[in-house]
Amino acid sequence: MAGQAQNSKNMLERLVGYDTTSRLSNLELIRFIEAYLQDCGVASTLQFNAEGTKANLVATIGPNVPGGVVLSGHTDVVPVDGQDWASDPFTVSEKDGKLYGRGTADMKGFIACALAAVPMFQAANLKRPVHLAFTYDEEVGCLGIQSLLPLLKDTVAAPRLVVVGEPTSMQVANAHKGQHVSKTRIWGREAHSSRPEDGVNAVAIAAELITFVTALATKARMDGPKDEMFDPPYTSFNVGPIKGGSAFNIIPNYCEFDWEFRAVPTADPEAILVEYNDFLDDVINPHLQATSPECRVENTVWAYLPPLKAEPGADAETLALMLAGRNDTTVVAFGTEAGHLQSIDFPTVVCGPGDIAQAHKPDEFIALSQLEACDGFMKRLADALKS
Ligand SMILES: [Zn+2]
Repeated sequence: MAGQAQNSKNMLERLVGYDTTSRLSNLELIRFIEAYLQDCGVASTLQFNAEGTKANLVATIGPNVPGGVVLSGHTDVVPVDGQDWASDPFTVSEKDGKLYGRGTADMKGFIACALAAVPMFQAANLKRPVHLAFTYDEEVGCLGIQSLLPLLKDTVAAPRLVVVGEPTSMQVANAHKGQHVSKTRIWGREAHSSRPEDGVNAVAIAAELITFVTALATKARMDGPKDEMFDPPYTSFNVGPIKGGSAFNIIPNYCEFDWEFRAVPTADPEAILVEYNDFLDDVINPHLQATSPECRVENTVWAYLPPLKAEPGADAETLALMLAGRNDTTVVAFGTEAGHLQSIDFPTVVCGPGDIAQAHKPDEFIALSQLEACDGFMKRLADALKS
């Protein structure tokens, strides 16, 4: 194995060793990165969450002038609960050219290559900077990045490119759909099931609302904006967990369900939410309130991911293709922090080592060849920023 690949592998072993499942603190990992960067002569800025239990990290290598490149990634990983792993998920194990462990693909592999490249970036005497931006709580609604955006906007000189290193097998992805996740809560009135006139059935109202969501989905599929880059090419909907009711002979007084839609970048997500909320305000709630003042329906969007919009032929895309050694861009089916970064006018693509097919699963792995490809990306990046 070449020297740099060994460095990246060693770094990945360290990073995977910190269990940064989103429900836990990521501070041990962040402190490790901070200390490592300090040893390399690079200062870090930490931005803590309200509870002080998690932090984002930002660091700049080279002069903080416009035209740099931001290497961005999330430090949290999804849980291993209930998954059957052949080896300890928080100890990297190597077999047949693959490194197994939670987060190897999603996305500590990219962070490892970026960190392992810092001494090279330092030695390169960069004319334009490399910025590192590592976040918490991506896997539970992209919470860390939303706090980080104002800090990035204020402290990082306008970059030429942001690379979000989610696993794309080192292809350059320039677009993904947006995502809105809502929770609808329904407060009805409890009564004995033999006396329907006395109660307001929250589960039955949920059924009516889910039918409405399903109709929105059909409309989006049949008549909504299409973008043939994506599979499926239309805005898609899903109704997820639902809970309500306690016994067959009690009229349920409460029900809630989660639903989401993934809008193609050309769709207007606000219009979809307005249509749903209008149905609540104009049809459902007046009817409920007329029955009983305590009965009502509310919808809250609790997670939002802006779409990543393609900017074909833009300077950022051209640079990303050169760094990745690719001729063509692709799109990804999953959501990332890239749309948030683009929303503050940072030109952004998604490109990182490993395959999303291995993410979130037991025996998650990254091929060593992918780490090597990412090391090559970092080498070309150092060369590009020297001049
Ligand atoms: Zn990820």
